[in-house]
Amino acid sequence: SHAQDHRVPVVLISGDGIGPEVADAATSVLSATFKGFEWIEAEAGAALMERGVASGVPKATLDEIERTGLVLKGPLATPIGHGGKSANVTLRKLYELYGNVRPIKPMPGLGGPFADRDINFVVVRENVEDLYAGIEHMQTPDVAQCLKLITRKGSEKIARLAFALARAEHRTSLCAVTKANIMKLTEGLFKDVVETTAREFPELDLDHMLVDNCAQQMVMRPEQFEVIVTTNMNGDILSDLGAGLIGGLGLTPSANVGDDVAIFEAVHGSAPDIAGRNVANPTALIRSGIMMLRHIGEGGAAQRLERALEDVYRAGTALTPDVAYDGIGVSTDAFRDAVLEALE
Ligand code: ATP
Ligand code: MG
Repeated sequence: SHAQDHRVPVVLISGDGIGPEVADAATSVLSATFKGFEWIEAEAGAALMERGVASGVPKATLDEIERTGLVLKGPLATPIGHGGKSANVTLRKLYELYGNVRPIKPMPGLGGPFADRDINFVVVRENVEDLYAGIEHMQTPDVAQCLKLITRKGSEKIARLAFALARAEHRTSLCAVTKANIMKLTEGLFKDVVETTAREFPELDLDHMLVDNCAQQMVMRPEQFEVIVTTNMNGDILSDLGAGLIGGLGLTPSANVGDDVAIFEAVHGSAPDIAGRNVANPTALIRSGIMMLRHIGEGGAAQRLERALEDVYRAGTALTPDVAYDGIGVSTDAFRDAVLEALE
């Protein structure tokens, strides 16, 4: 029925631990939703490091990423005792993935303290600057110093990404989150730049909140948020708080966005404790794939798959053990098949 689907080559990095299992489920349901995907399997992660590829990402994989600009990625582990950077950091630095985007939306039918709340917002986090730029040194043997780096250009890029996302998703408001009352220059610059960028998007309302208050508001009244745009460390903490609101890292997708490359991945790690047992929940990676569908302009396909996934959660009879009401649940494969059936 979708014979007109254009071809979209995507680099598929299955990754470590539960990666291959969740990647298999995710690519199955994504291919069933949108026929145009051409999966290019590529290696990265712990096994490569053990074979002596220090960065964890071999040249052949980098070449494919540069050719396609699109990656669907499972979790990458860093072997214990490996001194260097993780493969994740390698990719983020190499392609200047300056924006980390995390939608926070619960799945229907699950319990938990926020089950009955209307939570649906996106955290857009700057991902290369701030205290995480890695500029640290010992001033004296007893005094350590870390430099907080915020640039106008970096702030403009993340602000534009957040406003453009709000516009594309037909949202009405954004909230800039900073600590500009204390760090008047760095966080203040970020706040100024977001406020200036807002003029290019007159249909969107912009609010500002201090990060400590925002943490409280996300718990007390999460319904108020649509898009949060913030600096790196604030965003690191707030996006995990958001993941907690909707039932944990296992359900939370993300996108890492650069000028030329976008990497879509689940927020969880490689979960070696359950790897190879056909019990991992592929929901977070499937939702990352739904973000990728929207990114390539296939909003209709994204909506079809999102609805199928929600149907399976609402029915509640074919969920993996981590979210099953009886704690037993079904296998990764059976969950995948239920989503495929819901798509028909
Ligand atoms: P890594 O070192 O790669 O971060 P990890 O063991 O910290 O691996 P996390 O993904 O951070 O793995 O997960 C923490 C726990 O949550 C794991 O023990 C695992 O049982 C559970 N978990 C994580 N992801 C999933 C998933 N997709 N499905 C089911 N359980 C999961
Ligand atoms: Mg972990």
